[in-house]
Amino acid sequence: MIDFSLTEEQQMLQSLARDFAQNEISPIVQIIEESNNPEIEPWDFCKHLFHKGTELGFTSLMLPKELGGVGGKCIDMAVVLEEIGAVDVSIACSYFNLTAAMSLFVSRVTTQEQQKRILSFVNSGKPHLFSAAESEANIATSDIFCPFPDSNIGMKTFAAREGNAYILNGTKSPLVTNGGIADAYFIIARTAMDKPLHESLSIFYVPTDTPGIKFGKKTQMIGWKASHHAEICLDNVLVPVENLIGQEGEAGKLLMLLPEVAIGLAASYVGLARAAYEYALNYAKRRVSWGRPIIEHQSVALKLADMIINTQAARLMVWDAAVTAETSPQLAATIKAPAAKTFAVDVAIKNAQTAVEILGGYGVTKECLAGKFLADATIGYSCDFTREVLRLGVVNFL
Ligand SMILES: Cc1cc2nc3c(=O)[nH]c(=O)nc-3n(C[C@H](O)[C@H](O)[C@H](O)COP(=O)(O)OP(=O)(O)OC[C@H]3O[C@@H](n4cnc5c(N)ncnc54)[C@H](O)[C@@H]3O)c2cc1C
Repeated sequence: MIDFSLTEEQQMLQSLARDFAQNEISPIVQIIEESNNPEIEPWDFCKHLFHKGTELGFTSLMLPKELGGVGGKCIDMAVVLEEIGAVDVSIACSYFNLTAAMSLFVSRVTTQEQQKRILSFVNSGKPHLFSAAESEANIATSDIFCPFPDSNIGMKTFAAREGNAYILNGTKSPLVTNGGIADAYFIIARTAMDKPLHESLSIFYVPTDTPGIKFGKKTQMIGWKASHHAEICLDNVLVPVENLIGQEGEAGKLLMLLPEVAIGLAASYVGLARAAYEYALNYAKRRVSWGRPIIEHQSVALKLADMIINTQAARLMVWDAAVTAETSPQLAATIKAPAAKTFAVDVAIKNAQTAVEILGGYGVTKECLAGKFLADATIGYSCDFTREVLRLGVVNFL
């Protein structure tokens, strides 16, 4: 028997996240969006939100209780991220999803010594922002999915073993989320240049104060105004062997054990899709043409119906993927999580476009939110791998 109803605790979590998003995140997002100042540093405004969200348990929600976490499930995180994503998808994805998922990653794949050290912030209650860097500016990030054995394909950041340490050199792309503001980085680098990419990628834990790590200036994007992305330059960065996660060449295999990143992104985008629907619905009830609210024109009503139908379908895919992440992580990682992410982003983009249409000329003004929804939704297309590449990946595993 399948039951898609939320438990009483999950409903409480949902309203906690909704209140936090609407009462605390929303006013800050408004300030950032309205500032129109490219020099503004969103992290200055969002840091205290991240602290508050950490206090509420959102970054340790999926961590086991014995590591100081809440001991919740992926579905709990999905519920929280939908609420935050409905107010601002960049805050949901950049700060909360990434940190919660990477904390879970550490709890899942590292040694006990590494867990204790890397996750020591959890018990201290101190907020700790994570970042993960694989992409490089002059290399197609989609190469990560390349099945060909050619060792020339793919990223060039290299980790050379020297005694009890690795020396990292290379440059990560200006798109890296939380680059320059995170407390610690998971850097993906090659530990062999003569092997195919999928056999030579390794993951290193690099605290931000490690000598030789430098950051570029904040990247300007068409949306996601509340997040921070920047290039990472690694200039002879010395990383002790204790900070290699798993074994050399295991990055791909280990990250396959983390469908929660894509599920969290998908949940955040369901939030955006829902917000675009609610915004358009509200407008359609108030705007009058030909003597009646425009919602009474069937062409508008049908658009709204499609928006809510597609949002519900995306939500069900996310919840299904989240439940599968607990019961069959491999199935979640190879098919259900990427499928949910691509579908949720498609629905978010479609809903945002439809919201722009329903608002008529006002849809393209800065006065209303439809344009923000559209810009933020479009960014979902390529963050954490593009629609095409994810879909090709799904087909490979069918
Ligand atoms: C908001 C945001 C946040 C991000 N955060 C991070 C981060 O935290 N860390 C990080 O490392 N990176 C991050 N990225 C980078 C992101 O992972 C890449 O931009 C994304 O994977 C696409 O890679 P690319 O830009 O190199 O495009 P490419 O791989 O160059 O692809 C270009 C186009 O070609 C298509 N394409 C490529 N190969 C194929 C193929 N084999 N078959 C069919 N089509 C193909 C793609 O679908 C795309 O349309 C972020 C990006 C964004 C937008």
